[in-house]
Amino acid sequence: MDISIVIPLYNEAESLPELEQWIARVMKDNGFTYEILFINDGSTDDSWEVIKRLSRENPSVKGICFRRNYGKSPALNTGFLHAKGKVVITMDADLQDSPDEIPELYRMITAEGYDLVSGWKKKRYDPLSKTIPTKLFNAVARKVSGIKNLHDFNCGLKAYRGNVVKHIEVYGDMHRYIPFLAKNAGFNKIGEKVVHHQARKYGKTKFGLDRFVNGYLDLATLWFTNKFGAKPMHFFGLLGSLMFVFGLISTAVVGIMKLYHMYSGHAYSLVTDSPYFYLSLILMVLGTQLFLTGFIGELIVRNSQRRNHYEIEEELNI
Ligand code: UDP
Ligand code: MG
Repeated sequence: MDISIVIPLYNEAESLPELEQWIARVMKDNGFTYEILFINDGSTDDSWEVIKRLSRENPSVKGICFRRNYGKSPALNTGFLHAKGKVVITMDADLQDSPDEIPELYRMITAEGYDLVSGWKKKRYDPLSKTIPTKLFNAVARKVSGIKNLHDFNCGLKAYRGNVVKHIEVYGDMHRYIPFLAKNAGFNKIGEKVVHHQARKYGKTKFGLDRFVNGYLDLATLWFTNKFGAKPMHFFGLLGSLMFVFGLISTAVVGIMKLYHMYSGHAYSLVTDSPYFYLSLILMVLGTQLFLTGFIGELIVRNSQRRNHYEIEEELNI
């Protein structure tokens, strides 16, 4: 099978027939063999009824229905598990992404050798409250992930080489950082294609402004797990030791100053009158705690299933 199209959806009943027709037309015009995987993320409207009807008319339409709403990432992940195509395309169900982009995305994966091609909604039809924070979000994501050539990490329209989706786990709200996940799994050839974007025709957006808060927290998590996930002591131990040593030195300085003043006949006061004394103590206490956090982190890693998980590209005579 050439292409699997994975479409996560939550209450998008009005858009689905139009989307399915449009995809089917593009596939037919280009002679692709394909499947459309609709992942119904616990919709409360009649999206699932519509999908059932579409699959009766077109055997390439397949569906999975969650019992409740889990979010876009779990929906994508489930679609990835079941996708059988050589190339996997993801797109939103709301008709904001155009199926006409699929042939070119397919060509970039198969002919140009990209592992992942992300769409770039260069000209967006979304409210300003979304487009401006998005620019900032992408700049930070570029910096943290080191994927310098991407302008639009969270674009719903993306294409993957088939095996890429089998090696990444999209959980929580991590769909915003799939290129980063792919890079962490060792897929380095990540490209971008400018795609057309349309205003939402039916329904309304499923994400509010909390996307930005959560987005930054997730980015911090990814950065940390990528860098120190397997060796937390290198992070907490270094920070903890520095704080402890710094606290120890400054405690000593406070004490020595006191002794010096005592024995040189100057007027002197209690060390507990000095703010430096308290700051030094806090530094030592926090430093110790960070260090212990490092140990606990290491114990957790020792017990984790993913401890010995390495991405193997090929094997020879094994
Ligand atoms: N979506 C989903 N589960 C959710 C929220 C959204 O499957 O909990 C789907 C939604 O139906 C759409 C896609 O994710 O197909 C993108 O959502 P939306 O268009 O609301 O996001 P926006 O375009 O505003 O970023
Ligand atoms: Mg949308």
